[in-house]
Formats: sequence, C-alpha cells, structure tokens
Amino acid sequence: MATNGNYIREKARDTKVMRQCDVVVVGGGPGGIGAAVAAARNGADTVLIERYGYLGGMGTGGLVTIIPQLADLTGKQQIAGITQEWIDRLAARNAVDMPKKEHWGSLDKELVQYYFKRSFFYARLDRVSYAALIDAEISKIILNEMMEEAGVKVILHAWGTEPIMEGKHCKGVIFESKSGRQAILAKVVIDSTGDGDLFPYADIECETDIPAHYRIANLAVCFWVAGVDHKKMTDFRDNNMKEFMDIMRKANEYGGQGGFMTSNLPDQESVVWFHSRYPNKSQTDVEELTRVELLGHKIAGKTIEFYKKNVPGFEKAFLVLTDPQLGTRSSRRMVGEYWLTEKDLADNQPFEDTIAVFPDLDRGDDSLAHPNMYIPYRALLPKNVDNFFVACRAFSSDKHVQDYFNLIPHCIAFGEAAGTASAMALSAGVPIKKVDIKALQKQLAKQGVPLPDVTKKVDYKYEGPALVGRPFTPPH
Ligand SMILES: Cc1cc2nc3c(=O)[nH]c(=O)nc-3n(C[C@H](O)[C@H](O)[C@H](O)COP(=O)(O)OP(=O)(O)OC[C@H]3O[C@@H](n4cnc5c(N)ncnc54)[C@H](O)[C@@H]3O)c2cc1C
Repeated sequence: MATNGNYIREKARDTKVMRQCDVVVVGGGPGGIGAAVAAARNGADTVLIERYGYLGGMGTGGLVTIIPQLADLTGKQQIAGITQEWIDRLAARNAVDMPKKEHWGSLDKELVQYYFKRSFFYARLDRVSYAALIDAEISKIILNEMMEEAGVKVILHAWGTEPIMEGKHCKGVIFESKSGRQAILAKVVIDSTGDGDLFPYADIECETDIPAHYRIANLAVCFWVAGVDHKKMTDFRDNNMKEFMDIMRKANEYGGQGGFMTSNLPDQESVVWFHSRYPNKSQTDVEELTRVELLGHKIAGKTIEFYKKNVPGFEKAFLVLTDPQLGTRSSRRMVGEYWLTEKDLADNQPFEDTIAVFPDLDRGDDSLAHPNMYIPYRALLPKNVDNFFVACRAFSSDKHVQDYFNLIPHCIAFGEAAGTASAMALSAGVPIKKVDIKALQKQLAKQGVPLPDVTKKVDYKYEGPALVGRPFTPPH
C-alpha cells in the first residue's frame, strides 16, 4: 500500500457478493423501518442492513422515544400507516402513552393543562396534540417482528460504506462487518442512514450548513435515571417551583444537567429522561462525535451525583442507561429533484406527487396560518442517480424545513413511500423515477397513509382563538 504521508493508495481487490436482492435498505432507523417493511410487503425481495444490533435508530437506541405531530391542529390524524401500526402494536403490549383520541385537537383549557403537565408533546398550540411516548425496548422487539413477518432479510452489525456505482446507476452497496468487506447487489438502493452516508461516493449533491441557533444544530447524549420516588419528586416540585428551578440551575452550575422529563409509561413511574443539546462543528466528524460522546457521559455522571444529594425523590436514583447511539439531529441534506424550502412551508398546498402530509405544530402563529406541510415524491429522489432513494432525515430540504420535519414519524413516512414505490416500479418494470404516481398514492392510501385530494387547492384560513403568547420552540 503506497502512502505519501497524507493519503494512502489502497490496492484494488475482489469483494465477495453476499446476496442479490430487489431492494437494499441501508440503516434500520425510522426511515429504514418504513422502507424495508413497505418494500417487502409489496412483494420486493428486501435486505436491510444496520450497523448496530437492534432496529429503531434514534427512536430506540437514541432514547428519543417520542412520536409527535401525528394529528393537525384540528385533531385530524395526518400521519398513520406504518407509524400507526407501530403504535398499535405497542398499545397491545401496554408499552405506549398518548392522549385519548377523543381529545386530539381539543381547546378545553383544563384538558390542555392536564396533558401539558404529563408531557409538553401532548399540548401544542394551546390544544391537545396526538403524540405517543413509546417503550424503546418493547419497540425493538416489535420492529424485529414486523421485519420477520414482512419477510425482510435483516443483517445487523453491518456498516454500509460505499454504493456500487456504474454511471448514474447504483448497483448495490458494500458493507463492513465482523465477516469482513462484502457486497449486496440490488435493483433499488435506499439510503436510510440518517446522515446520507452513501452520498459522497454517489456524488449526490447535499448541504450541511445549519445556523448555531437551530434545534438541528445540536448533538445529544440522552440518558435515563431510574429509582426515582416519583411522588416525592412531584410533590416537592409542584409545591416549591421556585426552589425547584433554583436547584435545576445549580445542577447546571455543578456541571450536570438541569431539567428532565418524567416517563409516562405504565409501571415506569420511577424513570426520568434527560435530553440534551450539544453544539458541535459537524455531526459527521468522528472527532466531534467522540468529543460530544465523552462530554455527554461526563455530564450524565455529574447529573446523577448532584441529583442524589440535592433533589428530593432522587436519593435512591441511579443512572440506568446512557444512549447506545449518539443523538444526531441533522447532517447531510440532499438537494434532490425537488428541494423543499421555507416557501413550501408558507404555501400550504399539496403537490401533484404528494406522498405524505405532516402537521406543523411547532411554529406558533405561523403554524396556525399554515397547519400542514405536503411532501412530494421528488423530495426522496437525487438528481443524478436513477435507482436510489433517500428515505430518512437526509431528504431533500433546506435547513428551515429540516428543523421542523425530520422527526420519527416523518422519516417512517418517507420510508413507507420509498419502499412501496420501489416494489411497484420493479413489478411494473419501470425506473423508480417513472413510477405511476397516482397508483403509488392509491397504494399508500390503501396502507392507511392519509393523503389529500391533490387536484384541489387548499383554501385555509385560521379562525380560532389567538395563541396565549408563550414562545414556541421545538422541544425535540
Ligand atoms: C436528542 C434528540 C431528540 C429528538 N427528539 C425527537 C422527538 O421528540 N420526536 C421525534 O419524532 N424525533 C425526534 N428527534 C429526531 C429523530 O429522532 C430523528 O430525526 C429520526 O430518528 C431520524 O430517523 P432516520 O431514520 O433518518 O435516522 P436515525 O434515527 O438516525 O436512524 C438511522 C439508522 O441507520 C443506522 N445507520 C447509520 N449509518 C449507517 C451505515 N452507514 N450503515 C448501516 N447502518 C447505518 C443507524 O444505526 C440507525 O439505526 C430527536 C433527535 C435527537 C437527536
């Protein structure tokens, strides 16, 4: 191997083809789950490769166990499909918490206050919101079951490293694992790595800039603390709010973390969650990832040390889990066939090729004026590769759209559309960019994905009460 000190020149080598299939999905987070299940259910021989030993991505390993924004401000459910199926399966195992259906969209002040106290995800825009808090461990089991039932071949502990390119065509992916370097050949490749890990080698145009004040500019090390005396803690907090806030401030000064969320899950009263926001130079720079990972663990340690001594109810608490997967909010964003921008947020109109509708509940008055965001099929397609989908938070969007619409249910919806379209294109014998959009929309609707009548212009004017006026920032 030749080296000039700065670079090494690797030798050409033969790489073993492990498997050939119709669709290979790289990454088993929300995007990858939607893509793999939908592709397989629609008849494609589907392989999913995931770098860790479980599925769910941030939704399980990142300890981001909140599925929000499922209904719009009127209470109408806009995201369903595979997301709803996941929630239903969790509900069947008593492993989810959410506001009652009959309350979604309610403006009743007492009800809103009740739900807000349980979780601020349950009350947005001064009304009750449909969001679900889920059990990460039960989710892992359920997601495995969904893959098995759909007939997806799952390969864990496999890191997708390089798309196999032949001109504008992607012939599969190379991955590394304990078995060495191997390849999977596929007719359609779906990048669901969250970070667009395959972009650089496929020359897919992308953006990475994020202003420092954006939510998505931050990495996170989330952690759970268990053994909390919930009643003692809430009694103290609710009766001594000023003192409680002072203790939280002191926790920060001590080098720990002030502020946490209580678990609403059945039998998990003694658990609280800590989410965090760590500024960074880049969310794909391995040295930055290492720095933040180490910092996050140090802060988790300081937090538990401080809380045990100073926060009533935490005397017997212990640090039960720091996230197995560093919290990454955004990195590469494709500039694809259609690039969703702030203007689309304001337009509030469906596209002819709409494949998903996302309620917008995080932008205060702007959300009241433009309550839904429509997603075109083209936002999943790169300009320069003809059989490649991006079905994850790296979808084609500017930083404003990305800041609000890269959440778990959104990514599952991208995946469900990409997986369904892959199978339909293959069975029709057409390239994915030529898939029959009307037939795709019909199939998605059949799968329970709420879609608008794209032939009609949305004529919407908000006529409800004004917001109470508290500032709205996305809590994720
Ligand atoms: C701290 C924090 C709080 C958040 N809060 C919320 C919230 O409350 N609600 C919400 O809905 N969303 C929230 N989000 C956002 C949400 O979690 C993500 O945007 C969403 O999970 C993105 O899904 P994804 O499939 O694109 O990526 P990910 O969830 O990152 O999944 C990507 C998957 O691909 C795998 N992978 C990555 N690279 C490779 C590779 N090269 N080869 C093989 N496998 C690979 C990963 O291991 C992972 O399983 C939050 C995010 C963070 C970090």
